[in-house]
Amino acid sequence: MARYIGPVCRLCRREGIKLFLKGERCYTDKCAIERRSYPPGQHGQGRSKSTEYSLQLREKQKLKRIYGVLERQFRRVFALAERRRGITGENLLSLLESRLDNMIYRMGFAPSRSEARQLVRHGHFLVNQRRVTIPSYFVKPGDEIQVRESSRKVVRIQESLDLAQRRGVPEWLEVNKDAFAGRVRALPTRTELTLPINEQLIVELYSKV
Ligand code: SF4
Repeated sequence: MARYIGPVCRLCRREGIKLFLKGERCYTDKCAIERRSYPPGQHGQGRSKSTEYSLQLREKQKLKRIYGVLERQFRRVFALAERRRGITGENLLSLLESRLDNMIYRMGFAPSRSEARQLVRHGHFLVNQRRVTIPSYFVKPGDEIQVRESSRKVVRIQESLDLAQRRGVPEWLEVNKDAFAGRVRALPTRTELTLPINEQLIVELYSKV
């Protein structure tokens, strides 16, 4: 599966906000946004003209980057969101939020979504007692996620659980740190998701093409 392998702090600087792509470092003053909060590149500090299209595009890029999804997969999720009942933008966020790699990050078993993706691929997690190695797997309310018994000594998972205590676990999830397990109580509503995203702009962007 293709993934972005370039410098990730550059992505935050491009979007002008913290996207929390690097785990612990994001919470320290080493964060590139704290040090250089202007876009990267030779013309990063120059003035740029905002058009309707550029605002929509930036919103889409921001959301893709937060969840670590590339264009093709993002389009597929968008198409799924469109087919569902309800508001497309909210469906889109809900689908992205229900990805297994995101849930593992939210539960605190990984310091970032990209690490969560890697840990899932390496087979460290069970969903409802069955091993799942697909990061884009959609979990449902009521699903139980567990770290496999043989993976509980993985240092990255243990360190991440300590970091997660500082970060906090959202209310729609339940985590038992000692049992290395968590449960999805419900999928978050739009108001519960504090994402700095205007999803309507993304819907408008895709409605043009
Ligand atoms: Fe973004 Fe984290 Fe890098 Fe800061 S440290 S710029 S939040 S990835």
